[in-house]
Amino acid sequence: MRRPLIAGNWKMNLNRADAVALSSDLVNAEKSSEVDVLVCPSHIYLDAVSATLGDSGISLGAQDVYFEAGGAFTGEISTGMLGDVGCQFVILGHSERRHVLGETDSLINKKVKAVLEAGLTPVLCVGELLEDREAGNTEAVVKSQFEGSLADLSPEQVQKTVIAYEPVWAIGTGKTASPAQAQEVHADLRKLLNDRYNSETSEQVRILYGGSVKPDNASDLMSQPDIDGALVGGASLKADGFTAIINAANQNVA
Ligand code: PEP
Repeated sequence: MRRPLIAGNWKMNLNRADAVALSSDLVNAEKSSEVDVLVCPSHIYLDAVSATLGDSGISLGAQDVYFEAGGAFTGEISTGMLGDVGCQFVILGHSERRHVLGETDSLINKKVKAVLEAGLTPVLCVGELLEDREAGNTEAVVKSQFEGSLADLSPEQVQKTVIAYEPVWAIGTGKTASPAQAQEVHADLRKLLNDRYNSETSEQVRILYGGSVKPDNASDLMSQPDIDGALVGGASLKADGFTAIINAANQNVA
């Protein structure tokens, strides 16, 4: 049985006071203990949010990292620095990094390896553009991102990752993949995990859905057999909405 994970990607939003207030509201919210909760603030507020989360059980993640351990890489942040401020997870290959900042599967693969070597958990994002979907290429695009980003990893390493399927056309647009559309891709990913690694890996790895998840669509999405939680952007910026999504995941555990 995979434990649901609800992750909030705060992107380049909130100031220090807002980030601390949101973390504090989430710590105090009435939320299911059957669901793992993760928040991913901007790098610059990780320390402040870490202090606010304390031992609440809510995990802390970063939105990206560089693959080198240290040195002359102006503007970048290492896995060691993330561990130092209490991060356990790192989002990698988010569509905004792939399509706005030009990250390739080969760069993302280096980052996945560095994150695993540091004992942190990568949340690897994959997902197709609208034009890929309309051309019938969703399965091929997702497969190629999966294979490229996870190249040269052992089954044991892949078992320590979380995958997020995020159709790019659904991110921040208000358009959500239907539960059936999302389940179809999640099932493809589950099969890839089985075929490329083994059944243990396919049964263990959590596959989150992301793309305009809101309190009112979360339950239907997470009732699908291969959807193990959500990566939430916009709706993670308000404690009430994010808590409702956490509690919607719980309904499907019971
Ligand atoms: C995201 O940033 O990963 C995301 C899914 O955003 P939104 O929920 O706003 O679509």
